Amino acid sequence: MSTRGAIARQKGDTFEGRYHHWDSYPTGLGKALWDVYHEQFQDNLDEMLRVLIDEHPAGWSSIVGKDFAVTPGYNDYGKGNCLKCGRLAWEHYYQDWESHGKKLTAKARKDMANGRYMALEHPFEGPESNNAECYCHGDRHEEAFLVTEENAAGSGCEYAYVFAENGKLIMTILSSLNEDESKMIGMFGMGNPEAKWGVLAIVPLDGPEPDWKNIERGS
Ligand SMILES: [Zn+2]
Ligand SMILES: [Zn+2]
Repeated sequence: MSTRGAIARQKGDTFEGRYHHWDSYPTGLGKALWDVYHEQFQDNLDEMLRVLIDEHPAGWSSIVGKDFAVTPGYNDYGKGNCLKCGRLAWEHYYQDWESHGKKLTAKARKDMANGRYMALEHPFEGPESNNAECYCHGDRHEEAFLVTEENAAGSGCEYAYVFAENGKLIMTILSSLNEDESKMIGMFGMGNPEAKWGVLAIVPLDGPEPDWKNIERGS
């Protein structure tokens, strides 16, 4: 199950940024943003936001646990050679044979009739890759998508990580609230009655690392 989120810049009392598909809860994406800011971007917020928001306009599949020293890009599953046997992904599955020009053998047909599709008796093991995965580079080339306060919840985003304006070292974690309206304090304390987002935590980037589990429990 994906947990969707947004990585964004504050724009007055709203925000603008990019979509992030997997593990976007505070212990996932929240901690990942903290780590890449301090480690890979060495506390350079402008540079981090340039990469995370401007250079990858289609947004992210995942940056959690990824290495920004490697060029970001999407990794199509099944690319490359199997680590176990060296063959290509499609060779491992009978149902992929014919579309790749390989005739089904009598054994293959019999296996398939019995619900067995694994031609080599093991699943394909793709090469490990730890580059951040976006939707605009590598094996995906999708259109730019600007996530805003207005469309974020509609795109399934449950969390938004919003970096303050004017170089202030603050990351505000917002959560989309729909049921418990008493928690609705509005974005950035603005008290907007129409707000779909509530403040979960305000994280100073030059302070000590927060307890992400605690933040998550507050959602
Ligand atoms: Zn294999
Ligand atoms: Zn990209």
